Amino acid sequence: MKIILLGPQGAGKGTQASRLSERTGAKHIATGDIVRAEIKSGSDLGKKVQEYNDRGDLVPDEIIVEMFKPHLDGADSWILDGFPRNESQAKALEEALEELGLELDGVIALEASDQELVERLSGRRQSEATGKTYHIQHDPPPEDSDRDPGPFVQRKDDTEESIKNRLNIYHKQTEPLKDYYAERDLLTTVDATQAIESVTKDVLAAVGEKV
Ligand code: ADP
Ligand code: ADP
Repeated sequence: MKIILLGPQGAGKGTQASRLSERTGAKHIATGDIVRAEIKSGSDLGKKVQEYNDRGDLVPDEIIVEMFKPHLDGADSWILDGFPRNESQAKALEEALEELGLELDGVIALEASDQELVERLSGRRQSEATGKTYHIQHDPPPEDSDRDPGPFVQRKDDTEESIKNRLNIYHKQTEPLKDYYAERDLLTTVDATQAIESVTKDVLAAVGEKV
């Protein structure tokens, strides 16, 4: 299974990718997590990408492509979450797959209104222990510390200003990728406003049609 989960910030890409990964064994490749891990390492590259991350701007294509590519190697089943985000990255992905002799099975676009997304992102919490994502109302962190000890914190870039900026960039640069992949007969859209498990069911059905 080689699929892309496409969709705006807060649509549930991370949530669905981690559920798909648990159920199918496919590797969850999230470029946001790759960027945050680099920042945490304190490397020069981390310092460079931090400015973009904190503002909610895209990291320049050549940098993110180089950070992302090694993660494709060796895994024969994966779910991309947060990559590609514009046409130039989509082309870079095509080239990387060609070099590896691999082919994309499909692209699943999660759809929800901006109003819903802002509500979700404001209630989003991430576990510092496991990296898992929760929502204070829709998917509360477990109270049992054996399952996830936390602490459960708000991401630094989940501020109103950064969320607005990221959604703007999504609509301008990333959303056109839906047409790009529809033209290549790879796109399926899923209503992401449903409950988490219903979205998972639709995503699994879409994967079943493509793989
Ligand atoms: P979100 O999609 O909610 O903005 P992510 O966790 O996916 O957050 O990504 C965090 C940050 O990492 C982004 O704001 C951006 O700076 C950077 N990033 C992640 N993926 C990409 C990408 N494909 N291209 C450019 N920058 C990226
Ligand atoms: P993305 O990776 O697309 O930015 P996340 O998976 O981080 O999105 O989800 C954003 C927030 O919305 C999280 O707090 C998550 O728990 C919550 N969430 C995800 N899917 C749903 C859903 N179907 N209904 C309600 N809340 C959801």
